[in-house]
Amino acid sequence: MGPLWKDILISLCPDDFLSPPPILGDLAVPGGMVVLVAPQDKQAPKGRLILPQAQAIRDALDHGLAALTVQLTDYAAALAKLVHPPDLVVCDSQVVEATAALTPATVPLTTFSILFARAKGDLVDAARGAQVIETLKPGDRVLISESCSHHAMEDDIGRVKLPRWLTKYVGGELAVDVCSGRDFPANAADYRLALLCGGCMLSRREMLSRLQKFRRAGVPVTNYGVAISALHGVAERVLSPFPAALAAYREGKGALCPLS
Ligand code: SF4
Repeated sequence: MGPLWKDILISLCPDDFLSPPPILGDLAVPGGMVVLVAPQDKQAPKGRLILPQAQAIRDALDHGLAALTVQLTDYAAALAKLVHPPDLVVCDSQVVEATAALTPATVPLTTFSILFARAKGDLVDAARGAQVIETLKPGDRVLISESCSHHAMEDDIGRVKLPRWLTKYVGGELAVDVCSGRDFPANAADYRLALLCGGCMLSRREMLSRLQKFRRAGVPVTNYGVAISALHGVAERVLSPFPAALAAYREGKGALCPLS
């Protein structure tokens, strides 16, 4: 009897679809230590960590790693107390520039959002897509896509900070739309770029299906963490733990600038 349709479908899946990478557990060996820089600012919910932080800690524990969690204000002092440098530092995208400045160049650094772009989606594609930022012009349409409909607080990263950083970088106002939850814009093809959150609330299947919709609409996609790091000049630093994504980011750069 020939293979069942289910077996055929499984054989067509990308290699990492059925067994996606862990959040961070493969980036250090058991017995190692990760430092998580997690600001508890006014956007943070009272009395608990946000899901990406909690899931990263759990993943570290599941892989035999120690996880030291600090706010940015305590980061330098915590690093100084360590006998050995950490195997990995993960920070909130909003403090990536400051964290990069405080982290020794020999210590791998990335962001929570980038970890989730890899675990839930396609980090290589997100790294390539970030180069579209270089080509944006004032007036271009950009979509910010958040995978959950959380209550937006003052200075919300998707609705306020990211549009502000993009506007400053591009040198003029962009036409920025925000969609949240399971909404998908009917006019997706109108956007020059879609910036997606890490999707911590989504399953990998849901995120890949979302990415596929953008691909079908011909819209390049990137991720908050990659984009914010690019806007602050530290994209290569935070993509360094992921050689394929770093290569894709550099390829995109070369494609945009034949002299680089
Ligand atoms: S699903 Fe996206 S917007 Fe919602 S908490 Fe997770 S990363 Fe943030």
